[in-house]
Amino acid sequence: MISVPINERQFDQLINGLSQLPAYTIGRSLDNQIVIFNSKVSGHHAQLIHCTPASFVLNDLDSKNGSFVNGVRITRKVVDKQDTLRFADTELTVDQLLALLKVDTKKPAVTPPPTPAVPKFPPKVDADSLDFTQAFADLKQVHDQYPKLRKDCRNREKMIRTGSVILSSIIGISAVLTTGGGALPFMQLMSGAGLSMLIPTLCSTILSTDEKLEIIDKEYREKYRCPNPACRDQFIPREWEQLALQKTCRRCQAIWVR
Ligand SMILES: [Zn+2]
Repeated sequence: MISVPINERQFDQLINGLSQLPAYTIGRSLDNQIVIFNSKVSGHHAQLIHCTPASFVLNDLDSKNGSFVNGVRITRKVVDKQDTLRFADTELTVDQLLALLKVDTKKPAVTPPPTPAVPKFPPKVDADSLDFTQAFADLKQVHDQYPKLRKDCRNREKMIRTGSVILSSIIGISAVLTTGGGALPFMQLMSGAGLSMLIPTLCSTILSTDEKLEIIDKEYREKYRCPNPACRDQFIPREWEQLALQKTCRRCQAIWVR
């Protein structure tokens, strides 16, 4: 990756660009990105902010008949794909809601973030099929970044200005942006290892610190697990180093370290 020196103003622009999270309005009016045909649903009923591939913030826009998450009326709440959302009496999962998203031809299409790549396994069961050494090594970043992210999260300005590990990946990305002119930092970050895909969420001005912390915790719980998809044993609160010494998963026999 080419490193391009950038000045203060460009850096601000970069951070602002980076902090733009896709947000979709939901309601009965046809000018919403997600239209629900139900007379009990308000014209502009709610807004769904897409924070990470798995985390969203649902924001009620003072609707008459309310927005609900798992049966509880909310004004604003962090949600994921396991939650059931309800607008007046229309009940939908997050996936069903996203399926209703209109493709706007005038603006560049907001592509849903790609699901993180899952390693492919040979169809036949052999010794190698339990080799998760690479995926396990990647989890060290997830483990190490988590406390740093929580700390940085409390202060957006500090988060942006300090030279944290996470920030260095922004600088790397800045080279791509300033040379390529592409405006898809969100997408580019999604493929990054560890928790770096949380950067737009952390820099965003439309989320509160508590919401950011909740999303960091959610992503950490979701990622810091045995990399074998058939197992997914939760690693929290175990330290990565301690697991590395153990070398294999006691539950599924996956090989973490050779
Ligand atoms: Zn396992």
